[in-house]
Amino acid sequence: MSEGRGSLWSATFSRRPAVPAPHRPPFALFLGFTALALGAGDLPPVRAAEAPPSRLASGATRLTEAALASDHAWTRLSELCDGIGHRLSGSASLERAIDWAAAAMRADGADSVWTEPVTVPRWVRGRESATMVTPGPHTIAMLGLGRSVGTPPGGITAPVVAVKSFGEFEALPDDAVRGKIVLWNVPFTTYGPTVRYRSQGANRAGRRGAVASLVRSVGPIGHRTPHTGNMAAYNDSGPRVPGAAVSVEDAERIQRLLDRGEEVRVRLEMEADTLTDGTSRNVIAELRGRERPDEIVVVGGHIDSWDVGQGAHDDGGGCVISMEALRLLVALDLRPRRTVRVVLWTNEENGVRGGEAYAKNHGKDPKRRHVAAVESDGGVERPVGFKLTVRQQGPGGSPDSTDAARTAEAVARLKTLAPLLASIGADKLESGGGGADIVPLMKLGVPGVEHQTTMARYFEWHHTEADALSAVDPGELKKNVAAMAVLIWALAEMDGTL
Ligand SMILES: [Zn+2]
Repeated sequence: MSEGRGSLWSATFSRRPAVPAPHRPPFALFLGFTALALGAGDLPPVRAAEAPPSRLASGATRLTEAALASDHAWTRLSELCDGIGHRLSGSASLERAIDWAAAAMRADGADSVWTEPVTVPRWVRGRESATMVTPGPHTIAMLGLGRSVGTPPGGITAPVVAVKSFGEFEALPDDAVRGKIVLWNVPFTTYGPTVRYRSQGANRAGRRGAVASLVRSVGPIGHRTPHTGNMAAYNDSGPRVPGAAVSVEDAERIQRLLDRGEEVRVRLEMEADTLTDGTSRNVIAELRGRERPDEIVVVGGHIDSWDVGQGAHDDGGGCVISMEALRLLVALDLRPRRTVRVVLWTNEENGVRGGEAYAKNHGKDPKRRHVAAVESDGGVERPVGFKLTVRQQGPGGSPDSTDAARTAEAVARLKTLAPLLASIGADKLESGGGGADIVPLMKLGVPGVEHQTTMARYFEWHHTEADALSAVDPGELKKNVAAMAVLIWALAEMDGTL
């Protein structure tokens, strides 16, 4: 501990001469002026014990100690996950979760807490099942995909054709696809390359005359747990065929039967439907800055989840981590220079309407500038650090691409905070950050910071019944709270901005 504190002090004092404080001895004042004259390389060695830690550093230490000592985050996450449960857009449980979060942040002592209406899609799952009827019958573990249409009453029964890539699919003759159920049996590598089959599978299958689309679940292992998630919007030009995910074990079973030359027939029954849009809300809580209240550091997660499991890692944890950061600032009487805003965005999972609405309502206000937007949406395994990206702006830049020069400058400034995060092990600070809910702000030039955990097991639980509080480690939750509280404090308190 003492070693960490020493390096933290020296990092703070090596950046610039220390601010003279009334209780500091004249020698330290002299040292400060000497530093200006000589440059850091010529300074006589200074023992850290000679100077008190800066407000920034001492605040970080206090936040870390308080976060690691408190079970409050765990209690909050249990209230959300066990007391309310999963919370898909359009559901009563999502609105209960929003009311709960607003009340919790009022109780925590935020200066103001309010909600803002957001129009959200309402997709409902209804009853659903998949059965292998030949050879069979065998019940397939499945979950319909968000946006999917349902099947006609009585379901769709058809032979299955399995493929392992879009290329293999496009190479099939038309009569191998028409009238069939397509199984996208693509083993998980990383999320990006595999999730394309969940997104695009139904559109591609429908366009070639298939009657339904099944995707092998987007996850690294089985446990016979299907993973839901959103599909891309249907193409207006093609037929709308239903899409569902099946467990890894069921996908492999079908593949083995087909490889042996057997016919596999599946009956898919889904009541899925898209209702008219509904109204949900973003929740916003604010701790006003003591010196620069019009500079805003935003931190948050998404309050909605899929309609399975408890939305513990995705993203109840991110919400609670953000709420706790603000609570600890209030509890420790650490009012930073800038304003801290916790935003719990609604509808990330199947629309990102909350993130878009927040940026539209607040991102272009010339009087209240967002200096950083931080999102926690990578679960609550052990924290490792934060990633940062600044996007290109202005007429010369593409609105979606990284501004390499500004990102490098901002990452360099972010790295000066590493000593504050080292004792938590969350000091890996690098480029490459984002987050679905903060991308709309990032497109307006706001530096986007992504909370990073190991994500060692995240995609085993992602969008499944297994994303429950039992999959969260209370000790790791505390470390994440500590990392986020320190980062937010530092971004809101540091001399300059990113
Ligand atoms: Zn999420």
